[in-house]
Parts: sequence; structure tokens; C-alpha cells
Amino acid sequence: MKDLAQQKTIVLGAGISGLSAAYHLGLKGYKPTVYEKDSEWGGLCGNFTIDGFRFDKAVHLSFAKSEYVQELFKKSTPIIAHKPEASNHYKGFWLKHPAQNNLATLPTEEKVEIITDFIKNSDVEHEVNNYEEWLRAQYGDYFAENFPMRYTRKYWTVEASELSTTWCGARWYKPSIPEVLHGAFTTQTPNTYYADEMRYPATGGYKSFLSLMAKGSRIELNKKAIAINSTLKEISFENGTKESYQHLVSSLPIPYVVSILNDVPQDVIEASKRLYASSVAIVSLGFSKPDIPEYLWYYIYDEEYLPARCYSPSMKSPDNVPDGCSSLQFEIYFSREKALALEGDDLINHIISKGVEMKLFTQEDIIVKDARILPYGNVVFYNGMEADRSIVQDYLESVNIYRVGRFGEWAYLWTDQSLLSGKKVAQKEL
Ligand SMILES: Cc1cc2nc3c(=O)[nH]c(=O)nc-3n(C[C@H](O)[C@H](O)[C@H](O)COP(=O)(O)OP(=O)(O)OC[C@H]3O[C@@H](n4cnc5c(N)ncnc54)[C@H](O)[C@@H]3O)c2cc1C
Repeated sequence: MKDLAQQKTIVLGAGISGLSAAYHLGLKGYKPTVYEKDSEWGGLCGNFTIDGFRFDKAVHLSFAKSEYVQELFKKSTPIIAHKPEASNHYKGFWLKHPAQNNLATLPTEEKVEIITDFIKNSDVEHEVNNYEEWLRAQYGDYFAENFPMRYTRKYWTVEASELSTTWCGARWYKPSIPEVLHGAFTTQTPNTYYADEMRYPATGGYKSFLSLMAKGSRIELNKKAIAINSTLKEISFENGTKESYQHLVSSLPIPYVVSILNDVPQDVIEASKRLYASSVAIVSLGFSKPDIPEYLWYYIYDEEYLPARCYSPSMKSPDNVPDGCSSLQFEIYFSREKALALEGDDLINHIISKGVEMKLFTQEDIIVKDARILPYGNVVFYNGMEADRSIVQDYLESVNIYRVGRFGEWAYLWTDQSLLSGKKVAQKEL
């Protein structure tokens, strides 16, 4: 134990994966220090508060399957369990989620188009080389074009044909023809969402799930790493300080790590420049009334309305709002492939005018409004991304930089997977 404690171990980034790495390394006997650029720990699991309204950084609900993660979360905070009852907004209609087997509220012509294609498609052999082909094979052309392919442009910021299929796995439910027909006649359909329950801390926002790990970790805030010398094993921070290390675990985005690392071969630099992630603009609204939101979260397919998704912080937990109030937060995705169409007040005004048009709320209900940017949202799985990622990962491995989390592993990880990614590093022989 003593030896490990003396081996100077640094973790970069105090999001869930960095905190998990530090916590689990600590359990093994290391004494790591976590360096975080922001003034608070939490990363994407963090939050901000305006006039008593707490907003997480995007939706954040836990549907962790791992019993280990569930237990750790339970030990950290009392939990509220929600049913995963989401909705979909499409051409002015509200459909239960998932849309493909909940068509009941659509006009007859739409149902006929969707179901005809679905049936036509069911006994055809498909060659699948990209996400668009996968969607067409799963759902038929009409549904694919009008629902997931539109959503892909809004959420992934590129055409579905430009994405690989390695990330989608069990996330999209494929119903049988009887299920589609059943859902076209009645809204009384069973829940087929990929999780049974969505969990959320009773108090303190999503971040409370991380509190046990944070409590056991040594964290230095306002320490942005700006250079890593893997030969000297030394990190420079923006505030002019330097730290040497024996072991380095990083949850920072791997293209950024390459950009601050010494003597990186040209092919690795080039591969890292091809990797990219989407960013998220979040627009948060606080209301003076308690009953504004109708759904815990919903997806928006119409492209003239910029957000891809909206959720209610006050439905996640009443602790997120002052008494008698409620709140919504909208997510708008952009990337180097798709610019953010509106910013700041213009974006807020767009969200408000569309929300009023959709009868979600009135202007007079709004007492808090805010727009801000999360620079790193989703890793984009363009065709060939995995090969570029391997070049970068292999190099970082060769210079003994251990990578954890969504941006360290450069994968589509949820919080539970990011936590387990941090835990995994403690099982390695550093
Ligand atoms: C829009 C959106 C919605 C999501 N919803 C859910 C959900 O409902 N459920 C779910 O389970 N998961 C959800 N996720 C996924 C979840 O947010 C991630 O899996 C998880 O938060 C990633 O944690 P991380 O520690 O790997 O990365 P991060 O949280 O990004 O942590 C990295 C940390 O490194 C810090 N850092 C960056 N650069 C430097 C530097 N130079 N020096 C020092 N520190 C630095 C950052 O400030 C940050 O704190 C969502 C993600 C997004 C984008």
C-alpha cells in the first residue's frame, strides 16, 4: 500500500470518469490528485443555478444497468425513480416514445405511408454500410427519412449516410409488424424504452451521484493542463505551475491531449485532427408556475425548430426549482460540420417564440432565461472514425497516458460507462 501511495499519480479532469479513476485508484492504495480546469468538479454531470433554478448540463438521468454503479449512486444520495415516459414532437403532433410503435396520434395518411413501408421492408435483405442504410433496413424509407434521419441531422450534426453503425446497438427499438399496427390504433402500448427506470438524485442535481467519489478524492480546481511532456513526465498548467508524475490518467478529449503533448508523430497529429465531437448549446427557462412541463423529456423532429431535445429539470426533481415553479431546458447541437444557426439572445428568442407557438408556455410564465455552450457533447462516429481513433489511442498508450471516460476513450459512453471506464484503470498495472 505504502509504495503505491508514494508513486505520484495524476488524474486530469474532475468529471465522473476522472473522479471514478481517482476514487478507485485510492481504494487500491494510490494517492492521486485530480486537476480540473473549471472552478467546480462534475464536468458534464455538473450544474449551474440562476435565481434558485438549478439546471444540469443537458438532460442527465441514470439508466445504469450495472449493479455496482447503482449501489455507488445509492450510497451517494437519496434517489427519485422515474418511469421512462418520453414523447416525440413531429409536424405538430405528440407521439409516445418510441415513435415507430406509437403512431396512434398521427393523421391517417402518415400512418399509411409509415406502415406500408415498414411491411414492404420486412422481408427484404439489406446491405448495410452506414447508419442511413441501417435505418432504412430497420424501419422502411418513410419512417427513416422523416424521423431518425431528420433527428440525426439535428443530434449528430451530419447526414446519417456519413455515420457508421458501430455506436447504435440496442438504442433503437425495432418493433414487429403487429406492434406497429397495435400502436397505430391505440395509445395504450407497453413501454419498450431500453431502460425500465430513470434515476435522479432527490437533491443537488445529477452531480450528487458523484459526491461519494468526490469526497474521497484530492481535487485541485482552476488548473487547466496546457502542456504534457511525456518524456520528462511533467504537466504544465495555465496558472504557470508544473507537476511531475509517475502515472498519468486523463479524461480530457484525446485530440486536445495530442495538441498539448510533446514530439507527437505526424500521422498521429493528422488522425487526431480528423476526430471531432459535437457541441451543445443549452437554453434554460424557469417558469413562475408549477405545471408548465408535460413530459420528463421529448424529441423534436421538425428541423425549423432548432432543438433536438427538451427535458424538464423540475420534473427530474422539485429540488431543482423554487416552490411553485417549474423549468425546461432545450438542447441544440452543432459541430464543425454544422454551425450553430443562432446564438445568445437570438437563440433564446427562437426557443421562446417556437415554444409559445407550440403552446408549451406563455411569455409571461418565464422568469429565468439562459443560454450557454457545452464545448464537448457527443463523439461523432463518421465512417472511418474508429481507425483514426486507434492511431491516436495506440500512440497515447505507448507514452503511458491512460485514457478514461467519454472523451478519453472517445466513445459514446453514458455516465455509468464513464464511471466504469475510470474504475477499469485502477484494475490495471499502472
Ligand atoms: C447532451 C448530453 C446528454 C447526456 N445525457 C446523459 C444521460 O441522460 N444519462 C447518462 O448516463 N449520460 C448522459 N450523457 C453522457 C455523460 O454526460 C458522459 O458519459 C459523462 O458525463 C462523461 O464524463 P467524463 O468524466 O468522461 O467527461 P467530462 O464530464 O467531460 O469530464 C472531463 C473533465 O475534464 C475537464 N477538462 C477539460 N480540459 C481540461 C484541461 N485542459 N485541464 C484540466 N481539466 C480539463 C473538464 O472541465 C471536465 O470537468 C450525456 C451527455 C451529453 C453531451
